[in-house]
Amino acid sequence: MKNILGFRRTEDFAGSDARTVILRSEKAVRSLVSVRFPRLDCCYTYYNDAFNLREGDIVFVSGKMAGESGLVETVNYRFKINPADYERVIAHPVISMMGTYAPVLDKMVSIDRVTIDPETFRGWIIPSADGGVETPEYVMGEGYAFDLEHFAESPEVDSAVMSRAIDYCTEGRVSYLSVKDNVGTAFVKGTKWYEVNFRYENGWVRDMYCECPYAGFCKHSIAVLITLREILKRIGVFEFTAVDSRLFYDMLISGRQRVTLLPTEDTEDVCSQ
Ligand SMILES: [Zn+2]
Repeated sequence: MKNILGFRRTEDFAGSDARTVILRSEKAVRSLVSVRFPRLDCCYTYYNDAFNLREGDIVFVSGKMAGESGLVETVNYRFKINPADYERVIAHPVISMMGTYAPVLDKMVSIDRVTIDPETFRGWIIPSADGGVETPEYVMGEGYAFDLEHFAESPEVDSAVMSRAIDYCTEGRVSYLSVKDNVGTAFVKGTKWYEVNFRYENGWVRDMYCECPYAGFCKHSIAVLITLREILKRIGVFEFTAVDSRLFYDMLISGRQRVTLLPTEDTEDVCSQ
């Protein structure tokens, strides 16, 4: 197997035979939960009175870890506490996944029309507006435009930034990337999550924007271009959704209450339901 610069592992795209549908209903059950934050490798205890949590669930919390997604490690229903002593669980994203996925590089990739859309993915990593995080208003100038095959030679691409972008790919920081109806969306994990938007048509990426404060063409955008180029090389179609494999399986485990695996022939039936 050939090693591709900037990715953790390589696998050829081959049609997967599994279709996954996950649904979950909620009724709050009070609990005291310990939550692990994998990115920072730490664990804290929170009071939960808003959700029915189980081990493996993805949650967002109040306090100093606000905005970090955490994984519920243990759930304790027998407790007597003063709620004022504890920060709380404030969001538990609904895990709903549809699509047929196959491993490509370090991603799970689907070429289905109905799959994990950008809004759904955003809910996995960033708490919803009622979690107290405000969406900033952006002002945009002219976006960047690149021929995807030759972007690395462009004077706008700084070699030091390029090198950081390759590190980002190696570290699996482009956690989500989708292209649908020529509209591209990516989420890149830097010091915080950054969304990258662009249009893709006939080998050209246009109107590319990242929401990070860097003044030039940033490492997040370059990492997205590298990832886009390498995935398109392997799948032979121009519309797809790619999710970091580790995150994909974390979400599968988190939504384990109902997981249905069906062979590919049933794809049409599931979509039309
Ligand atoms: Zn950026």
